[in-house]
Amino acid sequence: MITNSKKIAIVTGGAGFIGSHLCKYLLDKEFKVICIDDLVTGTLKNLKSIKSNDFEFINHDVTEFIKIDEKIDYIFHFASPASPLDYIQLPIQTLKVGSLGTHNILGLAKAKRAVMVLASTSEVYGDPLVHPQKESYWGNVNPIGPRGVYDEAKRFAEAITMAYHRQQGVETRIARIFNTYGPNMRLRDGRVIPNFITQCLKGDEITVFGSGKQTRSFCYIDDLIEGIFKLSQTEYYYPINLGNPAENTILELADIIKKLTGSSSKIVFQPLPEDDPKVRMPDISLAKKILKWEPKINLEDGLKKTIEWFKQNI
Ligand code: UDP
Repeated sequence: MITNSKKIAIVTGGAGFIGSHLCKYLLDKEFKVICIDDLVTGTLKNLKSIKSNDFEFINHDVTEFIKIDEKIDYIFHFASPASPLDYIQLPIQTLKVGSLGTHNILGLAKAKRAVMVLASTSEVYGDPLVHPQKESYWGNVNPIGPRGVYDEAKRFAEAITMAYHRQQGVETRIARIFNTYGPNMRLRDGRVIPNFITQCLKGDEITVFGSGKQTRSFCYIDDLIEGIFKLSQTEYYYPINLGNPAENTILELADIIKKLTGSSSKIVFQPLPEDDPKVRMPDISLAKKILKWEPKINLEDGLKKTIEWFKQNI
């Protein structure tokens, strides 16, 4: 039974990887949750363990007008293709959800006087010339490259979010989310961790793109969700990096996953995708200061939990 005293949150992209974890976390925190997703890259499977009466699913594309009758306290705008494989296959949808979708969500947040939390991304830094990346870095993005559709959509999303904050007084928050992994990622998501785990468990070749010397810094989903929730509870409206600053090369990652799965899969090298960032690592001093947040789960422990989930879902 929904009571009036409960805070109500919308999660767009709530059937996706991060969105589904966020829905569950908010329900655990006694929120009523309305999940809006058009299931283009998300799946209802991610939500099937939710039995709560405080949960509602709406199949809707947020680039179209959204009508919600209830009062809304928070909107977490997480709808977007997020794997390079997806946004390269869905370039127009990716641009539309970041631009038109974010516009609609901000209009809804304004009408409802809700706090709007934007899922932005480390991709706003592009192929960074500054390392590690601080929020004050403006980035190095190729607007017309294959990744530009995601990067520029999110950069626009940040710009319009700040404009609604400044001009319309909407309460906004911007999370720049770095590489995140965990249960509920699709087996053939295209991103490196699900790819390597699936390949190792199936005994397929491990596809390392380029030399494998490029770096990423991987954050376990539970850590990220804590950071996002804490951000929603502060009044800080400039972008904040959320990620785990422990940096690894992709080749190191392949070795770790191979070891943890006990796999005898062979590593093979394939061409590096265009504009693939050479390095990536968040500077999280701001998140530590403002949110009193930092990740707790190290890569091996997070990977062990993720591999267990993949084993059950493969
Ligand atoms: N990558 C790889 N093999 C794969 C998938 C990805 O070597 O099967 C590399 C990719 O080229 C990139 C890194 O892993 O350098 C992370 O890729 P991902 O798609 O996970 O996300 P990104 O950080 O590039 O957005």
